[in-house]
Amino acid sequence: MDEVTVKTIQNLAYLLASVLFIIGIKGLTHPRTAVRGNLTGSAAMLLAVVATLWGQNILGWSWIVTGLIIGSLIGAFLAMKVPMTGMPQMVGLFNGFGGAASFLVAGGELVMRIARETPSGETAEGVVEAAAHEGISLQFMIAIAISGLIGSVTLFGSLVAAAKLKELTITIKGKKYWLSSSLLLPGRNFINAGVLILSVALCVLVVNNPDTSAWYWVLIVVAAALGVLITIPIGGADMPVVIALLNSYSGLAACATGFVINNNVLIIAGSLVGASGLILTSIMCKAMNRSLANVMFAKLGPTADGPSADDVYAGKIKSTSAEEIAMLFDDARRVLIVPGYGMAVSQAQHVVRDLANLLESRGTEVEFGIHPVAGRMPGHMNVLLAEADIPYDKLKEMDEINPTLDTVDVALVVGANDVVNPVARTDPKSPIAGMPIIDVDKCRTVVIIKRSLSPGFAGIPNPLFAMDNTLMFFNDAKKAFTELITAVKES
Ligand code: NAP
Repeated sequence: MDEVTVKTIQNLAYLLASVLFIIGIKGLTHPRTAVRGNLTGSAAMLLAVVATLWGQNILGWSWIVTGLIIGSLIGAFLAMKVPMTGMPQMVGLFNGFGGAASFLVAGGELVMRIARETPSGETAEGVVEAAAHEGISLQFMIAIAISGLIGSVTLFGSLVAAAKLKELTITIKGKKYWLSSSLLLPGRNFINAGVLILSVALCVLVVNNPDTSAWYWVLIVVAAALGVLITIPIGGADMPVVIALLNSYSGLAACATGFVINNNVLIIAGSLVGASGLILTSIMCKAMNRSLANVMFAKLGPTADGPSADDVYAGKIKSTSAEEIAMLFDDARRVLIVPGYGMAVSQAQHVVRDLANLLESRGTEVEFGIHPVAGRMPGHMNVLLAEADIPYDKLKEMDEINPTLDTVDVALVVGANDVVNPVARTDPKSPIAGMPIIDVDKCRTVVIIKRSLSPGFAGIPNPLFAMDNTLMFFNDAKKAFTELITAVKES
């Protein structure tokens, strides 16, 4: 088969793969079609990879098949081993690997082209001249610089984000620091701006020196520092935004690498990931009522002048029991269950479903209020509840449920904290001020199921727990629902 025919078949395969990517993403927009969407996207990726490998003659098939087997084994092992609560870290690492692959492929291509364009014994001026006129175009060098900058920021930013989500600590002079706000350098925004300017200057040097790859590797190191520096100060509660943003970066880096190696499907897939990551970032920012600049440069977390847990809770907490809650259900016509991170930790979704079914069999209307950033990753609660076969029409988004809360008799808040914290509405100085929440405090009775008065991800007390219409059921979520089912059956 001649080269033109191979290229044509390859491009047709790329076109088909790109259409399948778009159909796959469309499928991911609804839980009912999400699995099919995922499979469609995977099939498209397989088609793109096979088409790319089929048309190249650099690596032998044995290398390629070995790489595929090793990669698939690592992927399958991670997918089976990582718990649902560890997904955000894994997604973060995958973003990072995408960035790493992009800058390594771009760097490798640069090294190879320079070697190809440099007949031995030629002078440096001759090389620049040859590079400019033969294989190394300005577009190629710009794509190289962008891929290196964004790819390296993505890898090292993602490593920090994953470490923070895993709550890794580092020890300096015998003192333990959480990789969060405790490592803030004074004047960090100036330092970050300086490193950003240095990175841009290095991009210019890379573009203007097509005869050497040295500046490219310096750029990788400085961009790595930039990735670490801009991610470390970002507050814990903003991590979903950071992960979504890094996801977008990994797509942009892949897109730039697509221009480097002239691969259409990489350009298209990279743009799709870049754009969808940005859209998700914007949705997450809205869900937390933060601008992107505020997420990136402002500090979020408990403030020294904020109220202490004692101020908020002392003498105002009312504990309850499964039997007392069962009595509340006797008079309830409408029950709302608001799940959060604790339901995921306890893996309580199946007993939650059993209680919902039991209440419905007694004629009580049961719905689920879903906050967009409940849990630790976008869609976390939807995934868990879908796993427990809870019908999708019972899951109500925050905006849909909030206007109807005054007709809810009992709100069961299971392992959620920040997403129902009314200070977001009432205290403009609070770290979560303005974040839209599910206003369960407006329900007739609120039952909070959690193990203690510990704060949630944002690290601040929750005055909801001390309100007159709130009862605390201190328990592990799974145990609490098991006890509730027994109590309802016995009541
Ligand atoms: P949260 O504010 O982190 O609170 C979770 C609560 O669950 C904790 O207060 C904890 O209290 C309780 N809990 C933990 N284990 C439990 C168990 N076994 N049984 C019962 N309760 C348990 O969670 P959220 O209300 O879901 O809010 C999510 C937060 O995470 C937001 O601040 C959000 O911005 C952030 N975040 C979201 C994402 C995302 O994309 N969804 C990603 C990263 C971060 P006890 O220890 O007292 O039990």
